[in-house]
Amino acid sequence: MKISIIVPCYNEEEMIELYYKEMQKVMKKLEKTEFELIFINDGSTDKTLDILRKLSKNKDVRYISFSRNFGKEAGIYAGLKYATGDYVGLMDVDLQDPPEMLIEMYNTLEEKEYDCVATRRVSREGEPPIRSFFARLYYKIINKISKTEIVDGARDFRLMTRQMVDSILEVTEYNRFSKGIFSWVGYKTKWLEYKNVERVAGTSKWSFWKLFLYSLESIVAFSTVPLTIASVFGILFCLVAFIIIVFIVIRTLVFGDPTSGWPSMVCIMFFIGGVQLLCTGILGQYLSKTYLEVKHRPIYIVKETEEDNG
Ligand code: UDP
Ligand code: MG
Repeated sequence: MKISIIVPCYNEEEMIELYYKEMQKVMKKLEKTEFELIFINDGSTDKTLDILRKLSKNKDVRYISFSRNFGKEAGIYAGLKYATGDYVGLMDVDLQDPPEMLIEMYNTLEEKEYDCVATRRVSREGEPPIRSFFARLYYKIINKISKTEIVDGARDFRLMTRQMVDSILEVTEYNRFSKGIFSWVGYKTKWLEYKNVERVAGTSKWSFWKLFLYSLESIVAFSTVPLTIASVFGILFCLVAFIIIVFIVIRTLVFGDPTSGWPSMVCIMFFIGGVQLLCTGILGQYLSKTYLEVKHRPIYIVKETEEDNG
C-alpha cells in the first residue's frame, strides 16, 4: 500500500522543511504504508527548488520543477500524473491543512465505503469579513447556475483512491478548476469539517482580485447559464421594444406628434448599449476559453525532477 501526497509549492522556502517535519510525524504513525511526497515547484523565484533538491535525498520525497509559474491547478494536475500511489492526496505546504487528518482519511478509505475523503472549512476565522461575504455569495451563485456541486468552503486537501485519480486524469481540459472537476467525476466523497487554520509562515498567494478572476473562470468552466442570460435579455428587450412601438404609434395617432422625450431616449440608448456590451462580454469570455482550449497547449512544462538530480 502506497500513499502519494501532492504538495504544490510557489515561493515557499520558509515552509517546506517545517511541513516535512510535521509530515514525518504522521508518516511514522502510518508506518505500515509507504509514502511518496511529490512537491511541485511551480516556478518559484526563491530557494524553494534548492530546498527540494536537498530534501529529495530522502527516499520518500520526489519533486517536479516547472519551467515557470503555471498556477496551482497545473501543479495539481502534474502531481496527479506523476503519482504512483494506491491512494493519492493533495495538500498545501503552508500547514493550513492539518497533517494529522491524513490518518483519519486513510482509515476511512480503508473501510472501502468511500472513494474520496475531502475537507471543508466550517469557519472562516482570520479572514477579512468582506472576503468571506463574497466567498459565500460566490458559492450561492455558482451552485444555482451549475449542475456540478461546488461545496462551500471546500479545500483542496483530500485523499482519493487510484480509480478516482485515473478518472480525474481523463479530464484533460486546459482551463482547470479542480474543485469542480473533483465533483464532476462523481464517486462517493466523505466530507470532514475543520476550523480554519492560519498559514504558519510565508504569505498567501491569493489577492482579492485574483480570487475574483478565478471565480469568474470557474463559472465559465462549469456553467453555460450566463450565455442563456444573454439570450433571455435579447428576447426580453425585443418584447419591450414591441410594446413601446405599439404605445408610440397609438399615442401619435391619438395626440399628434409633439417632439419630446429626448432624455428618456438617451437613457434607453445607454441602457440597451450597456446590456449589449455585457452580453458581448459574456460571449467573449466563453469564446476566449474555447480559444485557449483548442490551442491544446500543454498544461505545464517540467524542467527538472528528482530523477535528473539523483
Ligand atoms: N501555489 C502554487 N502556485 C501558485 C500559487 C500557490 O503552487 O501559483 C501553492 C502554494 O505554495 C500553497 C498552495 O498553493 O502550497 C496554496 O496557496 P496559498 O496558501 O497562497 O493559498 P490560500 O491558502 O491563501 O488559499
Ligand atoms: Mg494557504
